[in-house]
Amino acid sequence: MTEAFIFTTQVPPRTCPVCGRALDGSTGVSLDPKDRQPVMGIGDVTCCAYCGTLLSVTTIGFRLATDDDLASIDPALRTLLFAFSLQHGGRSRM
Ligand SMILES: [Zn+2]
Repeated sequence: MTEAFIFTTQVPPRTCPVCGRALDGSTGVSLDPKDRQPVMGIGDVTCCAYCGTLLSVTTIGFRLATDDDLASIDPALRTLLFAFSLQHGGRSRM
């Protein structure tokens, strides 16, 4: 069984490049017991809570997540991310 650690917090606002909404909250998910309060950071892949677009975190905001970005994620986390994206209007990347 895989144990997941989930942590929601406020973060400095960033704008989704697709829908233009400001995102100032983050729910991080980690499978690492040493990272029990994961917070979104540069290089992470995330999903816009408003439009479901898969995004990568950059030093100045977000860019669209690439296939390489998505391939770098643990398969269990990628499945969660895709499901969240689809529930929020994102396009299927499976
Ligand atoms: Zn968006």
